[in-house]
Amino acid sequence: MDGNIKVLIIEDEEKMRELMKIAFKKESFETFEAVDGKQGLSMFKATEVDIVVLDVMLPEIDGWTVCREIRRVSNVPIILLTARGEEFDKLFGFELGADDYIVKPFSPKELVARIKALLRRADNRNNDSVHNLQIGEIVINRLSREVIIDDQLINLTNKEYELLYFLATNPKIVFNREQLLLKVWGYEQYGDPRTVDTHVKKLREKLGDYSNYISTIWGVGYKLEVPR
Ligand code: CA
Repeated sequence: MDGNIKVLIIEDEEKMRELMKIAFKKESFETFEAVDGKQGLSMFKATEVDIVVLDVMLPEIDGWTVCREIRRVSNVPIILLTARGEEFDKLFGFELGADDYIVKPFSPKELVARIKALLRRADNRNNDSVHNLQIGEIVINRLSREVIIDDQLINLTNKEYELLYFLATNPKIVFNREQLLLKVWGYEQYGDPRTVDTHVKKLREKLGDYSNYISTIWGVGYKLEVPR
């Protein structure tokens, strides 16, 4: 799938990196890891990422310096990680250009929520809505992978999102279950076509008043289209 969020984690504690990686994987974020400030900076230069999660206390080059260096060349959102009890000057962090910070130990869910909020803000700042795909009343943000209907955030699972995104980027085209299994789930074979039906059903429920955007073509499959 295209449009996955790319996160660069710069953190020397392996346990922390693992924790974040697991949480990010659930969100289908693509994760890049650096174990010290020096590696972090060179990875940042070599990779195009959407957000940086940056530990403050790092070997080689400290997080403050990394933050400043990144800001010299990029507006990428940066979220700082700091340990409880650690000397931490948040104003200094903001001055250096950090967008947010979170204190360890934190819940991965909280971090993910902060990341999404930052990406949303970054998206508004860019103000070009290139990340928004609007289909009728449904707005899909490719960057934060959020779906908004009537200003309400719709809570979708990963696969529901990917299914909706795939159909929305290929409107009016009828796909059979096998095609959807391949495109959305990546199954070449052995996929259960009922998986598709279950997900379509759930997705329709969540689309509420707009469930009729997805139509069933009996004996063939599904398509997404804004009804007249
Ligand atoms: Ca550290």
